Amino acid sequence: MPIYEYTCTSCEHRFERLRPMDRMDDEAPCPECEAEAERSLSVFVSFSSFDGGVISPVAGGGGGCGGCGPGGCACAANF
Ligand SMILES: [Zn+2]
Repeated sequence: MPIYEYTCTSCEHRFERLRPMDRMDDEAPCPECEAEAERSLSVFVSFSSFDGGVISPVAGGGGGCGGCGPGGCACAANF
């Protein structure tokens, strides 16, 4: 199950939520102030591959392999 990162729009507290991909757009209240938080474009999406999930080329965001961080794909550097 992928981990998504959220940033509170009120106090800018950052937190992570483990949730199914079909609920990735659900609202996530800030644990600090319970204000609405926005989902960050998160590198944590790539962790879904460790669950045996499909690696989406969209999730990589940098044209990388999807298993490395954005802009830091060591795999792509070898090509
Ligand atoms: Zn907050």
